[in-house]
Formats: sequence, C-alpha cells, structure tokens
Amino acid sequence: MGPEDHGASLPSAGVVVRSSQIEKMRDPLSAEWNVALGPTPGAEQTADELLYQIDLGLLNEIFDNFLAVVGLPVAVIDLKGKVLASSKWQRLCMDFHRVNPGTLTRCLASDVDLSRQMQEGKDFAIYRCKNGLTDTATRIVVEGRHVANLFIGQFMLAPPDAGYFRAQQEEFGFEAKAYAEALSEIPIVAEDRLPALLRLMGGMAQQIARQSVANIRVRKAYAVVEQQVAERTRELADLNVELQQFAYVASHDMREPLRMISSYLALLERRLGNDLDGECRDFFGFAKDGAKRLDRMILSLLDYSRIGRDSQPQEPVALGEVLDEAIANLGVAIETAQARVARLAPLPIVPGNRDELVRLLQNLIANSVKYRSPDRLPVVTISARREGLFWQLSIADNGVGIAPEHHDRIFGIFQRLHGVDVEGSGIGLAIVKKIVQHHGGHIWVEGEPGVGSTFHFTLPDVSPSAGKGPLEASR
Ligand code: ADP
Repeated sequence: MGPEDHGASLPSAGVVVRSSQIEKMRDPLSAEWNVALGPTPGAEQTADELLYQIDLGLLNEIFDNFLAVVGLPVAVIDLKGKVLASSKWQRLCMDFHRVNPGTLTRCLASDVDLSRQMQEGKDFAIYRCKNGLTDTATRIVVEGRHVANLFIGQFMLAPPDAGYFRAQQEEFGFEAKAYAEALSEIPIVAEDRLPALLRLMGGMAQQIARQSVANIRVRKAYAVVEQQVAERTRELADLNVELQQFAYVASHDMREPLRMISSYLALLERRLGNDLDGECRDFFGFAKDGAKRLDRMILSLLDYSRIGRDSQPQEPVALGEVLDEAIANLGVAIETAQARVARLAPLPIVPGNRDELVRLLQNLIANSVKYRSPDRLPVVTISARREGLFWQLSIADNGVGIAPEHHDRIFGIFQRLHGVDVEGSGIGLAIVKKIVQHHGGHIWVEGEPGVGSTFHFTLPDVSPSAGKGPLEASR
C-alpha cells in the first residue's frame, strides 16, 4: 500500500479507535529526545516550580482515556518543547519523524513555534507541523502564569497529500512500505470539531493544574502548622521540666530555713519557760502549728513534683492486684469507718507505673471513706468498662458528695472544701490527676451533695481487642 491509496480507510475523530491500533502507538515521555530536553517535573532541579506541582500522573491517565475514546493523542508540553504528560503518540511521529534527526528538528521546531504563538496571547492555535501533520494547542495558565501548552495533534484535516509524503519519505530515507502504513494510521478530523475538543481538554488540564497547586498549598500550610505545633509542644515540655525542677528544688530548699524557724521557736519557748503567760504560750503554739503546716505543704509539693519524674508508665499492671494493695494499705481506716469496699467487675491490665496506680486508687478510696456521710456506713464500689480505646474506671461512694460548682476546682493544688476539722492537705486529688495524666488518661467527678460522689478516670487500653464494644470488655 503506497501513501497515495490509503485515504478511504482512514479513521476520523469521534470514531473509537481499535485498541490494536493504540497498542502500536508509542509513549513519548520516556523517548530519548524527550529525556534529552531536561529533567521531568518532579525531579529536584526542575526549572518551574508550578509545573512540579501539577498532578501529571492524573493527566496521563485522562489523556490515555481520551485517546482510547476519541482517537487523538493529547499532551502537555512545556514552553521549551518537553513533553510532561501525554497519551501515546502516533507511530508516524514516534518511529519516523522523531527518530530521524532531520525530521526531529522539525518536530521540535513545530512545538516551539506553536508555543510561541501561545505566548503571544492566543487562546488556541491550529497549526500544520513542519512534517505535514496538524497540531492544535491551548495555553495552560496557573496562577496567572502561562506554564505549558496542551496539545491535541498528530492528525490531518484532509486526506494526506501523497506527493508531499512520498517526497518526505525519500528525502529522509524512510522505508516506503512501513512509512505508508504508519501514515495510514493517522486520523482525519473535521476541523469544526477542534475548538470544542480543545476547550474541553484545555479546561480539564487547567482545572487539574489549579487543583494541584491548591493541594500543594494546603499541604504546605499543614506542614507549617504541624511544625509549629511540634515546636510549641517541645517548648511546653521543656518548660514543664524546668517548672518541675524548680518546684522540686524550691520546696526542698525551703524546708531548711523552716526547720531553723521551728527549732529556734522551740528553743526560745524552752528558755523563757515559766516566764511565759498563757497568751504568749498560745502565740508560740500558733507559730509552731503554722510552721508544721507549712512543712506539710512543702512536703506535699515535693511529693507532687516527683510524680512521673523518673518513670514512664510502661510495665503491664493488673489493676485488680493494685486495688488489693490499696485496700490493704487502708486497712485501719476502712475498719474504723466500718466501710464496705466492693469491686463490681474484673479490673483490666493496663500499661502503667504500679506504685503510682496504687497511690491513685488509694487516694480516691481514702477520700471516699474520709468524706463519708454521718447518716450511713460508707460503701465504695469500684468498676471498669471499656470506652473506645480506653478503660474507664469509676470509684463511687455514698458520702457527703460535692456540689457541681466545685467539680473542677477540687483537682487543683491545695483546694479543699472541708475545714481543718477534717484532716488533709488538699494535695491528694491534684496528685491523682497528675498520675492519670501521666498515664495518658483524664479524670472527672460526678455526684451531688448528700448523695455521694463518683470519680471516673480513663487509662489507655492497649490490648489487641481495644476499641471493641462493651460486650468484649468483660471477657
Ligand atoms: P484532702 O482530702 O487532703 O483535703 P484532696 O485533694 O484529696 O485533699 O481533696 C480535695 C477536696 O475535695 C477535699 O478537701 C474534699 O473537700 C473534696 N473531696 C475529695 N474527695 C471527696 C469525696 N469522695 N467526697 C466528698 N468530697 C471529696
């Protein structure tokens, strides 16, 4: 078959091309001449940052589908002629025109020429390339910058001029039969359909480019926020360590002058002995009590500052055993108050620091017994249930209860709702809260005055079945 007798069987645009024909087509992206044109966007040293941001993979996919349906190759080509995204191309271009140095020069010159037309401000152009095929192009403008062109091309607007192609075949020494065959695969397109096709593809490419840029912006913004959060967290952690050290050192060092005050008070009292009248004796008494209280407070602060200082909550701890230990430690108080302490469900094993967890339960149960109602014997119940990725433990009592307006306040350092008639330093719940937080959970209280209080706290559940429903929780 010669170039002059293939016109009648040419496919035209809008006709679905046979897949066997597409299979013969070639990928221009990895072609030597394209690679030689410089780095692909995405490579580090890409010239144009905006091009780097376009989702070229997505464009490749759309272009392949366009080719399969419409039968025309599509490509995004940068202003220097490098193909950035593309469907497969016609064999005539890939196996002949772009292989021979003479015709390749013409191909590239055609791309650059068309680019120049676009840069001069045209929205789209239809152009007969220097090797006899027709290309069309439209601009891709991102953020107001013309960064590349979209090409739909490698077709003809009329049956090929046999004389022209034969001359070309002879001039560049192409094998006649193979060249004619490749030429016969070139589709012929009705010119009036082109503007709509270009607008469609150009619009899509533009949209993808914009979307890609928007995505990158969002990602960059996220990265900035994440970095800021990380920095603030680090700063806070440093500050926290500093504060803890300060609290520890300050409270430790404050005890020394306090001891001095107490001992000189005692010395003075002894020296003055019988010279002191009743009122002066009272004054001495108040001063010594104050010093004792201050010492207790300092000790409490020291205690508080030590929580979580040296230990990470890591070892698996059976809360059932922890509860046994806490109850045993409170034996005398429980017995004296004739309190009943009951567990309502098996308690889980959690990662934690055993000593801290004993202290946590012990403080809460001690309070339940201490703040008992004068009208009934104390009953304290301990239960556990699964809540998503956490265990929720609850310690409920039938004591005096706490008014809702104090539910948050009581977890603060030295916050007490009771007077000096009930012994305590007001540090217990602050310590409890710190232990819970050190274990990755949180704590809150419910209840009403006269009815009782329930303290709830959560601890992370790291068992394989974490996050399962409450049914599995008790197994
Ligand atoms: P302390 O018991 O030494 O005063 P806590 O920090 O343990 O200090 O408790 C703070 C305050 O919260 C207590 O003074 C008490 O008024 C109140 N409180 C704590 N637990 C209970 C409870 N189970 N029932 C009623 N009040 C409570």
